Amino acid sequence: MQELTHYIGGAHVKGTSGRFADVYNPATGEVQAKVPLANADEMAQAVDIAAKAQPAWAATNPQRRARVMMKFVDLLNRDMDKLAEALSREHGKTLPDAAGDVQRGLEVAEYCIGAPEMLKGDFTDGAGPGIDMYSMKQALGVTAGITPFNFPAMIPMWMFAPAIVCGNAFILKPSERDPSVPLMLAELMEEAGLPKGILQVVNGDKEAVDAILDHDVIQSIGFVGSTPIAEYIYGRGCSNGKRVQCFGGAKNHMIIMPDADMDKAADALIGAGYGAAGERCMAISVAVPVGDETADRLIEKLVPRIEKLKVGPYTGGNDVDYGPVITAAAKANILSLIESGVTQGADLVVDGRDFSLQGYEDGYFVGPHLFDNVTKEMDIYKKEIFGPVLSCVRAQSYEEAIGLAMDHEYGNGTAIFTRDGDAARDFASRINIGMVGINVPIPVPLAYHTFGGWKKSVFGDLNQHGPDAFKFYTRTKTVTSRWPSGIKEGGEFNFKPME
Ligand code: NAD
Repeated sequence: MQELTHYIGGAHVKGTSGRFADVYNPATGEVQAKVPLANADEMAQAVDIAAKAQPAWAATNPQRRARVMMKFVDLLNRDMDKLAEALSREHGKTLPDAAGDVQRGLEVAEYCIGAPEMLKGDFTDGAGPGIDMYSMKQALGVTAGITPFNFPAMIPMWMFAPAIVCGNAFILKPSERDPSVPLMLAELMEEAGLPKGILQVVNGDKEAVDAILDHDVIQSIGFVGSTPIAEYIYGRGCSNGKRVQCFGGAKNHMIIMPDADMDKAADALIGAGYGAAGERCMAISVAVPVGDETADRLIEKLVPRIEKLKVGPYTGGNDVDYGPVITAAAKANILSLIESGVTQGADLVVDGRDFSLQGYEDGYFVGPHLFDNVTKEMDIYKKEIFGPVLSCVRAQSYEEAIGLAMDHEYGNGTAIFTRDGDAARDFASRINIGMVGINVPIPVPLAYHTFGGWKKSVFGDLNQHGPDAFKFYTRTKTVTSRWPSGIKEGGEFNFKPME
């Protein structure tokens, strides 16, 4: 059995806590490795190393720091297949989807090559007589990130690429479900020229997270995961005086107007609802057709498409649409929510409950499900299912449809499918959700924009990547300077406005 490590001080380090978690192959249900779960002492060792290494890295000029990112991007491209395979093996998503996971992180690293431009300060020449004023963006020091299982490459890179290029040291606590790719990324960053100790991976669970939350030296924490944990980390991190940004769960609605191209809308829902087994925070889990006639046409288009979906292991060839979910517990939770949908009166139009894959009976596969006539009161509507389950809630008007999305507690992503520019424009303007697609089902912003939801999908103010990341990972210092030619005036004791 493979025993994974931490990556501390530029080396693979065995866990010393004596606690481990099993890492499964979700396609077979077999335990393929064990990952060490760090205690507070192991976390403190990593923090000490980071704190010692960080000042020299912050003093390295931004162009040189950017060059590490440039090289890192090359190495990611070189190792793309290897990374995607390792990712699929632990996560279960298909190989093209795993490569997409790496690619979307790579694009953030690519954006970070522009750090010298992003980190330029402001300067006012002659703010007063003989006085100049300038603002610098300086690194925070030691920063940390806690990431979820569903994007084990992209989300760590969303955090560590901007943190590091800004001159910080970064400690990554990845998901204990799929920790191998984060370890590989840390090795690649060092191969790209990053000094030891600037990017470290400390594996663990709540104990390691609490050690991050309570460590005085750690200045900022980024978190992505479920909403209850996001809320906990935000509360405890902020009360410990840290800068914290936490991104939580989602329930993304797609509104289908009567004038929408129904084939395109159905195709979009298939990819956005069932891709990656629905384990995406930007998955569409609720379809809201406007009017019964629209709903009937949509269901008619969806059913044959869903029945054609091929569910299988990542090794099953290019026509596999999605793989298993992450753990047996995740599968049990999804199936119990499906049962609740049936009990609470929704129509299970496509029933995947008896899905089984020959040769993979112990894998965590869940067949695709489609519910119609779902209502606001049902658990399958209120809760994030994070599985291959699409719920159709019929609305009788556009106002009712937009109201549904606006009243839901989550506000990560949403989409509208229509040919009417006026409806689309109104939707984009009024909706209280952070990322909006117009005839685009998964509107994930590119690296040079920012990613973030609203409402219970986020705790904190700044978004991830793009310009916001450069704000999150730096602090501003403003210097007012005067260089007198000699001491002509003597001391000044009054606080005066600039003349
Ligand atoms: P999770 O909340 O279970 O775990 C996320 C991280 O928190 C992991 O590193 C885990 O080890 C740690 N953690 C778990 N329980 C903890 C506890 N009690 N105390 C402290 N730390 C704890 O989430 P997950 O299952 O890995 O990921 C799926 C969730 O993430 C979904 O809710 C999904 O919507 C969300 N997500 C959100 C975004 C976004 O950008 N908004 C992106 C991806 C995933």
